[in-house]
Amino acid sequence: MRDFQEDYNVFQSALEIPEPWYVFHHELAKKEKTLHIYIEYRRGAEFSCPNCGAPGCKVHDIQDQDRTWRHLDFWQYQTILHARMPRVKCESCGKIRTVIIDWARPGGGFSTLFEYHVLSLMVEMPVAAVARKVGEHDTRLWRVFKHYVEKAVENIDVSKVKSVAMDETSRSKGHKYVTLFVDMDTKRVIFVTPGKGADVLQQFCQFLDSKGVPRSQIKDFCCDMSPSFIAGIERKFPEASITFDKFHVMKLVNEALDKVRKQEQATQPELKNSRYVWLKNEENLTESQLDKFGKLKDMDLATGRAYRMKLSLQKMFTRSALVSEMYFDEWYDWAIRSQLEPMIKLAQSLKNHKDGILKWFETKMTNGLLEGINSLVQAAKRKARGYRTPDNFIAMIYATVNKLDLIMES
Ligand SMILES: [Zn+2]
Repeated sequence: MRDFQEDYNVFQSALEIPEPWYVFHHELAKKEKTLHIYIEYRRGAEFSCPNCGAPGCKVHDIQDQDRTWRHLDFWQYQTILHARMPRVKCESCGKIRTVIIDWARPGGGFSTLFEYHVLSLMVEMPVAAVARKVGEHDTRLWRVFKHYVEKAVENIDVSKVKSVAMDETSRSKGHKYVTLFVDMDTKRVIFVTPGKGADVLQQFCQFLDSKGVPRSQIKDFCCDMSPSFIAGIERKFPEASITFDKFHVMKLVNEALDKVRKQEQATQPELKNSRYVWLKNEENLTESQLDKFGKLKDMDLATGRAYRMKLSLQKMFTRSALVSEMYFDEWYDWAIRSQLEPMIKLAQSLKNHKDGILKWFETKMTNGLLEGINSLVQAAKRKARGYRTPDNFIAMIYATVNKLDLIMES
């Protein structure tokens, strides 16, 4: 004969239900493919007070209705835990409260183990796929996900942050953005907020305030030449210096160079299809591109001159800090007299940002790190597809970029 008691013990230990709770009944609803497991507490059991923690509280009354939690599937069966929750009356604080249980968070409809399962899936695959796989609405899954991410984010140590790189990244079509703040020393994303205007600095201030980090602790920012970033930093962090990302500077040079090429192409058809010949570094050109480049280089082209200006500015970043300012000024004089409209405009803009560009020679800060992070963000975007709210997307960024340890009970 089967020993039913033993049966329950198996459930009990597999479920990790601690005393005084035990499994007293289970029921297989074959049609619904559901296993119902009923849990109750031993008669006379005492609980600690959910309010003040005092041990040895006696049960005051019991709720009429079962509470239920979805648990890990039992083979092909969805598993539902059922329990009627007792309330205790505390002798110490006098409150009457529903007891706290170990297998689930208060208010949640999932057991903790089920939540961990969902989390591990959500960092691996698109949320829509997870929702299909476990048969739950994605809104509920996001709620779980955000709960654990928020907890993990709270634990990120920002007490020593002093150098911050910031950059915006698109979160969907239609020009919606989030701005990321990265601690340059720990290389962690410490803050993400919707938008890319000057107010993101205000948000960052509030974040630092909430962490008890004085604003004056932030000595350096690295960002692109976005006027709103600059205005925000100057307003909110007047003591901090700004280093403009040199990759961004080079991107602007490439854009100006490409404009020159496009203009000249009207009179010089040889320039057609030569865009990448000028934009890529010479050592990265394919054989046929090299061929083309060799021919074009020897012609007396405006594009060729703009190209040499680009190389020259690139070279500046290999020079010593000592000569950097002189180098920049000479480059500026050359570009401003080039009679190439796009290069003149660029030179003016770079001159207006000269301090921040040359600051690199001191801080060596770039947003190169953020380029790598950005590719992870794009992966997060794919996983968060249909993420519904920016909050969900931001939670996914924190989790995947920082490789957060989400399952960290406090
Ligand atoms: Zn109490």
